[in-house]
Amino acid sequence: MKDRLEALKAEALEKIHASSDLKELQAIKVEYLGKKGPITEVLKGMGKLSAEERPVVGAYANEVRDGIQQGLDAKSAELEEAEIAKRLAEETIDVSLPGRPAKKGSSHPLTSVVEEIEDLFLSMGFTIAEGPEVETDYYNFEALNLPKDHPARDMQDSFFVTEEFLLRTQTSPVQARTMLKHEGQGPVKIISPGKVYRRDNDDATHSHQFMQIEGLVVDKNVRLSDLKGVLETFAKKMFGEDRKIRLRPSFFPFTEPSVEMDISCFKCGGKGCSICKHTGWIEILGAGMVHPNVLEMAGFDSKEYTGFAFGMGPERIAMLKYGIDDIRHFYANDIRFLKQFRNV
Ligand SMILES: [Zn+2]
Repeated sequence: MKDRLEALKAEALEKIHASSDLKELQAIKVEYLGKKGPITEVLKGMGKLSAEERPVVGAYANEVRDGIQQGLDAKSAELEEAEIAKRLAEETIDVSLPGRPAKKGSSHPLTSVVEEIEDLFLSMGFTIAEGPEVETDYYNFEALNLPKDHPARDMQDSFFVTEEFLLRTQTSPVQARTMLKHEGQGPVKIISPGKVYRRDNDDATHSHQFMQIEGLVVDKNVRLSDLKGVLETFAKKMFGEDRKIRLRPSFFPFTEPSVEMDISCFKCGGKGCSICKHTGWIEILGAGMVHPNVLEMAGFDSKEYTGFAFGMGPERIAMLKYGIDDIRHFYANDIRFLKQFRNV
């Protein structure tokens, strides 16, 4: 019996030594020290032994059991340590690895252009005024010298929400609202950037939603030459110091006289190219002296006060500046298009 116990111990210790994980070790423990294991068997069979043999075998069986248990404990500690070491090695953070770059967004090209124009006029002493996009017929048309039956209303097909409210077709109502707030007292010097809406069929140069930036100056002794000076400064800052401007007579219901401003082509310098349609000039914006009716309706004495106004489309300016050939790109939200303007 002693030999059998000796052999069991040797066998168990060998298996313990060869085991490579804690699960295996647990299985060995069950196999040798479990209730159905050989050691238990031996202890159960002790009743058959003589009185002299019993304590000797009992002591030896206990010794073997303790020996196996010690072997298990030692191996278990060893395996646990190895496991920890392995995990530490695997989970080490290599601080010398370069980090993954965070995906950074950027301003929409239209926002960039609007902000550039805003900064330019702010530097000339203008302030920014904003107004509602759902506007009353009165502010959108009538206060701007466009009574209900005026034929020029046809120039701006509109989205009416009700009989009286519509999506503004221009940012000019902000001018009317601002002038009223001044209660007939100048000076007024604002630009009003914002979205406007017209019932247009979308194509490469038309969109039912687009942006405008309008400017308004009302004060005593404001002259057309003041308008020209402001527009020339804008053109040079926006499109290059050697730009020339040209004013052509035009018509708008809210200004008199009205003009269109062209700039000398920034691409060919005036020699003629595809951008300027071989004329040497590019149309940029409309402007004029505020119509006396508009001043009077907004509470200003048109004998005492004069003013000028101008309006431009940021989309058109962005298209010219960056060579964009289709206005719909601004609204399609195509990340491939937008990514090109990351550093603009
Ligand atoms: Zn040109």
